[in-house]
Amino acid sequence: MKHHGVSNPEKSRIRIIRDHLSQLDLATYCHSCYNAPCIMACNFEALSKDPKTNAIVVDNDNCTACRSCISKCPHAAPSMHPNGEYVLICDLCGGTPECVTICPEQAIQYLKIEKADIIYKSIYAEEMAEKLIGRGVKKSE
Ligand code: SF4
Ligand code: SF4
Repeated sequence: MKHHGVSNPEKSRIRIIRDHLSQLDLATYCHSCYNAPCIMACNFEALSKDPKTNAIVVDNDNCTACRSCISKCPHAAPSMHPNGEYVLICDLCGGTPECVTICPEQAIQYLKIEKADIIYKSIYAEEMAEKLIGRGVKKSE
C-alpha cells in the first residue's frame, strides 16, 4: 500500500509462505546482507544501500529487469514487479516499515539484529524440541 497505493500481494516486498504440513508460516524478506550479493550482481547500478537504514534501494530507471539480483539472493527476497519492468526489494520505508505499523496482530517486528537473533533462536529451539518429542525422543532430565 505504501509504495503502490493498492493492496496487491504481487507487489509486496515481503511474502509469507504457509507450509500446511508443518503448520509454519515462513516469511521471505530482504536481510540487508552485509556484502549484498544483489548489489554485486547488478551491472546497471540499479541497487545501492541506504546509508541510514542499510536497506537496499532500487533505482527503477536504471533497472533493466535482467533478474541477476534475484538469482544471486540467498534469501529469495527480490521479486519482479508484475509489469516486468523493475525489481521489488523492501527498502524499510526509509526506516519506519509500514507493515510493522499496520499489522493488527503485531506479527511483524522491526528489531535490532541482536534481539531478533535471540528470539529467532529460541523459537527454533522450541519447534525442534516439539518435533523431537513428537517422534518419541525424550527430553533430557
Ligand atoms: S536482496 Fe537478497 S542479497 Fe540483497 S541484501 Fe536483500 S537478502 Fe541480501
Ligand atoms: S533486475 Fe534490475 S536491480 Fe536486479 S540485477 Fe538486473 S538491473 Fe540490477
